[in-house]
Amino acid sequence: MPIIASKAARKVTKATRKPARARWPPEPTRVRSILEGLEELYPDVDCELARETSFQLLCATILSAQCTDDRVNQVTPALFAKFPDAEAMSRAALPTLEKLIRSTGFYRQKAKNLKGTARTLLAEYGGEIPRSLAELTRLPGVARKTASVVLGTAFGLAEGIVVDTHVQRLAMRLGLTRATDVKAIEQDLMQVISREDWIRFSHQVIWHGRRVCFARKPACQTCTLASFCPSAGLET
Ligand code: SF4
Repeated sequence: MPIIASKAARKVTKATRKPARARWPPEPTRVRSILEGLEELYPDVDCELARETSFQLLCATILSAQCTDDRVNQVTPALFAKFPDAEAMSRAALPTLEKLIRSTGFYRQKAKNLKGTARTLLAEYGGEIPRSLAELTRLPGVARKTASVVLGTAFGLAEGIVVDTHVQRLAMRLGLTRATDVKAIEQDLMQVISREDWIRFSHQVIWHGRRVCFARKPACQTCTLASFCPSAGLET
């Protein structure tokens, strides 16, 4: 006898395609599988902002606010050729800076932040980059996320987990957080992921968000994390 799906049954079938609500806290074995899966996918992961020094990384990260890394990488070669370090940047004329970084958006404020940060670094830290969240977040244009990027990428210091738009989206899809706002997501991630993995985890998740787990149409069918992901099948 043929089975004809009722309206209610059809609704249930459709609902199964939505992200499943993951158990909280996530099982340590599932978290470990996700970390191992990311490591297999992206063993050579690094921050994708082009730079040669920690000062240049700080500047590039300031510029990356509300902007893609690709766009930042298009403007920084000319910017760093002219102003390679804190001393040169502190003496930059604002109109020159604005012209060089205009395409990254919010360029007037960003130009002030670059110059202000360079001046503070010179005045208070001898032109060097301080190595704590508290000190870095006192610099103009440097919020917690920027400070964590610099500490982790330039110095290997894990003081927090970088939660950008990719980490925010993937942490939710992978069931590694119960939260939706950035601060609470970072707290959840810091709870379920070992500190030694914080730096690589955020870089790898950002890479996965750019290459596979796209915001609009994640490629779940080819995603090697699908067996550990409560949202697998999201693209259908
Ligand atoms: S692509 Fe799909 S399976 Fe992979 S992490 Fe994203 S939602 Fe999960």
